[in-house]
Amino acid sequence: MERVTGSRLAKLLGSLLIYPFILARRALRRWWRMPDHETVVICYHQVAAEERARFARQMDHLLRWTTLVDASFVPRTGAGRDHQVMVTADDGWKSFYDHAVPELNRRDIPFVVFAVSNRLGEAIDGVEGDRLMTAAELRDVAQRATVGSHTANHLAMTALSPQDATAELIDSRRQLAALLGRTPALFCFPFSLFDPRVIALAREAGYRQVFTDIPQRAGPDEFICGRIRVDPSDWMIEFHLKVMGAYRWTVSAIALKQALRAALRSLHPARHRPRPVADSSGMVQPADPT
Ligand SMILES: [Zn+2]
Repeated sequence: MERVTGSRLAKLLGSLLIYPFILARRALRRWWRMPDHETVVICYHQVAAEERARFARQMDHLLRWTTLVDASFVPRTGAGRDHQVMVTADDGWKSFYDHAVPELNRRDIPFVVFAVSNRLGEAIDGVEGDRLMTAAELRDVAQRATVGSHTANHLAMTALSPQDATAELIDSRRQLAALLGRTPALFCFPFSLFDPRVIALAREAGYRQVFTDIPQRAGPDEFICGRIRVDPSDWMIEFHLKVMGAYRWTVSAIALKQALRAALRSLHPARHRPRPVADSSGMVQPADPT
């Protein structure tokens, strides 16, 4: 359950202010007969039993306000509106299998699960009271959903040697293909940690597209697809603004904040000691790494 923090409220307020401009831009494009088939990719993790009803309400909201697309960005269901949404879930948690998958299937909503191929059935990242889907559960999900790779062992790709990073990309692909009879075309970075080096390795490994947790553009022609993290505990207005693309400004805001911090450091090096950085790539990292 996400806490009420200043950062969460600031993002919500900023997105509320931006939303009228997004609506106006869409209306103008429609008026000029330039439909904007923009896709927002949303990303879930766990869905607890007590959150199932909230998750179901969120799915009904998507059906009412958006068109749901599959892993190839092809429209499948929903309101037939220009605005498109793809549902994804990271790690492949048992709680998602138990509480979210039935609600998705009941509504015929396509979705993508990014699985950790070498850790099926295990608990990861110190999470208690939940575990990853077993091989049988993942096979069951794959009957209706697309399964992508989330590495073999859920390690931070940017911290690995080129050999180890390649092994994570190739091994997970091979393991999932053997399990499901289909070679995964999509990949998503654990903790959303990536840099140009691991992106190039993913491309070399043969993936069609890679997904981050940064709310940037996504579409069939983008190799790097952005996503926005959502949660059943999101307030309805927060969820609505996220799925309508109103949280994109946060990427620029974080970049601006980092640039200002760097400028202050260069002006007053003694007062602004450099902080340790998780990723030496220099790429913008998400506000809430997962
Ligand atoms: Zn993950």
